[in-house]
Order: sequence, then structure tokens, then C-alpha cells
Amino acid sequence: MRVFKFGGASVKDADAIRNVTTILNKFIGEPLVVVISAMGKSTNALEAIHRSIIENDGKLDQHIQKFKDFHDVIIDELFQLDRPWLKKHVSNLFEEIIPFQNQTFDDNSDELYDKLVSIGELTSTLIIDNHLKCSGLNSIWVDARTIIKTDSNFKEGRINWEQTERLVNAQLAPNVSETSVVVTQGFIASDHQNRTTTLGREGSDYSAAILSYCLDADEMFIWKDVPGVLNADPRKFPDAVKLDEVSFHEAIELAYYGASVIHPRTIQPLQRKNIRMYVKSFVNPDATGTLISQNAVTNTEIPSYITQNGQWLITIATRDFSFIVEEHLSHIFECFARHKVKIDIMQNSAVYFTAAVHNKEWRLLELIKDLQESYEVKYNSDAELITIRHYNEEIIDQLKNDRIVYMEQKTRQTYRVLLGNPSV
Ligand code: ASP
Ligand code: MG
Repeated sequence: MRVFKFGGASVKDADAIRNVTTILNKFIGEPLVVVISAMGKSTNALEAIHRSIIENDGKLDQHIQKFKDFHDVIIDELFQLDRPWLKKHVSNLFEEIIPFQNQTFDDNSDELYDKLVSIGELTSTLIIDNHLKCSGLNSIWVDARTIIKTDSNFKEGRINWEQTERLVNAQLAPNVSETSVVVTQGFIASDHQNRTTTLGREGSDYSAAILSYCLDADEMFIWKDVPGVLNADPRKFPDAVKLDEVSFHEAIELAYYGASVIHPRTIQPLQRKNIRMYVKSFVNPDATGTLISQNAVTNTEIPSYITQNGQWLITIATRDFSFIVEEHLSHIFECFARHKVKIDIMQNSAVYFTAAVHNKEWRLLELIKDLQESYEVKYNSDAELITIRHYNEEIIDQLKNDRIVYMEQKTRQTYRVLLGNPSV
């Protein structure tokens, strides 16, 4: 059996949904579970609703109306007959947040956040389930919150694998058959009290991997607006090419260094059960895409580029210019961890510890303030971190060109460089 995942771009409007229905109709006769994200940028719109409630800005109704209108237009375009009950169903999803509306929030509004953003996936799957039924498919809608269980860490729920596996097998598996297609939501789950949780932004790939794992799927497909996994971001590198095959190990490395095509947590569950994954184009569904698997052979002749803009370079020195030793390092790391700032690259010399990070500005400023109590700290925003897997010297020279090199690291397969803006 297969698990498919369709992301926001693949269901962004009525035409896109028609295309998904056409793709799914090609797979009739094979057991299939389909995981779907919120339509287009709906999750961002729901985040705006969340902010509006927290800030009590008086624009809540306006924001909710915008969300409903966006989906109502799609419903009107998709179906020949009027579907008032479907619109009502979407509207009713907002009823759950009514009790939250007049509450005051200190800093804990994450439970409300998850309840709200889950409306995006619930809405998209309701509409698509209906569209599939109209096209003649026996579509079965499943609420992912009844099968995917997490702890109560709202916004970043951690999976309770034992419970999830049991529920998926008891409740979802019996619906999987050659004559049906199961439709469920990515990104959303629930805790032991059945409160809605989410798996972190862009978490739908991970949902698909969780279901693939629990169902022992043969393969998982991620349908995207690109032909597959590319060796670089085509907006920055017009010569980007598709990688035909990528091993699990290589995919994990690419995700670790920040490649956005693969959600970092997606590969592990697939690797544990040796489930093949394909990244395919929903624009060109018959094309081969990229195969990611245990035995896939990574073509090391093709270098892969990962670029991360908006990096901050933080340089920390002892006040008395004594050596930076283990005690300092453990204190410095403790500060980074406490402020939840993740280091992307670091280096130390006799008296300096240097790190590049990309978190939110306020978080970094707090960290820097804290570090300044014990050290001399300098920082520089607007640096760019570039990672190249399977590099060669020629590429490195071209890349550096006339730019300032803040930091540079090389291992056998991976070259990383932190660059400043081109010098004038
Ligand atoms: N809708 C969620 C998001 O936009 C999850 C996903 O698309 O993967 O982050
Ligand atoms: Mg998405």
C-alpha cells in the first residue's frame, strides 16, 4: 500500500484540487492513504486569527470571514450544485474557539494556537473528500486527531508511538482497501485528553511518514510543485538539476544542513522500516521524480547547495583575554540552550568562540544581553551560510568570489562557509 502527501501548494485553489482528484483517480484499485495540508497559505491566515485573539485587536471577525470567504469561493468553483452544508461545516469549526475569545493570555496561548491552525487541515480535507466522492471515488474521511497521539507539548507535539501505532491499526487500517481512498489531515494530532496538538510548521510530511510507518506502507509519495529533490534552490541557482536518487543517509544530511524540501523528522520513521519515498511533481505526475531509499545511490558528481540567509554571526571573547576553555564553553552552550537558540555553525580559537545562528531577533538580543554579563560579545547580522555536499575546489572559489569569509569548514563530503556581503 501507499501513503501520499499533498502540501498546501498542491491544493491552493479549485484547479489545483481538480488536479489532485485526477491524480488520485489514476491510482484506483490500489490501497491508498492520502495526507493533505491546509490550502495554500491558510495556516498563515489562521496564525493571524490567533494573533488577533491574543492582541484583542477588534479585527477577529474580519479575519475569520476572510478565511471562510477564501474557502467558500473554492467550494463554489468546485461543485456544480450549491453546498450550503459544506460551508456551514467549515463555519462550525470556529465554534470551538468561542470560549477562548474573551480570555486573557499571558504567554500561554499554544493550546488555542493548535486548536485554531488545525482548522486549516480539517477544512481542506472536508472539501477534498467531497470532491473525490463527486468524482466517483469511495473516499473515507478520517480525523487524524483520533489516530495520531502526542504528548501535551502544544505546537511541537512529540509522538506517542505505541498509542499511535495501536490506534492506526485499529481504526484506520480497516478502511484501507483496493476500493477506497482514505483521506486524512497532515500536521494535526491530539494529546491524552484529546486536546488538539500539532507537529510543528510544515509537519504534514512527518504525519505521512508516521502513517507509513504504522501501516507498514510499501512506499510514500510527496507531491510537490518541483520535479523532485533538486541540488539547489532554483530561485537562486537557475542551473539547478533534479537528483534521481538520494539515499536515506544523504537525505538526513541534507535536511540537517537546512534543505527545505525534506522535513528533518520525516526520514527516520521511513528508514526504520525501509519504506521507499518518492518526491514527485503534481504538475507532471507521470515523471519519475526523486527516489529516496536505503539503497538509493547518491550521485556524488552533482554537488548540492543549501543556502541560509539572515544569519547572525556572534563572536564571544573572555573579558581578560584568557583562553576560552571548557568551563566557558559549557557556560556559553548553557546560555544558547536556555534561550532556545540553535547554532548552525561554530568555531573557536584561543580567545574567541564564534557561532552563526538564525533565530528570531528578540530571542538573539536577549541571548546577547545575557552573554554580555560575562563576556565581550560582538555580532553582525545579515551573513549567509552556504553548505555544499560533494564540493570541489573550483566551486568553492567561484562561491567566495569577492565576499568576506567569516568562517569556513571542510570535511570529506561537506564544505560550509559563512559569508558576508560582497566587499565594495
Ligand atoms: N499546514 C501546515 C503548515 O503550513 C502544515 C504543512 O503544510 O505541512 O505549516
Ligand atoms: Mg506546506
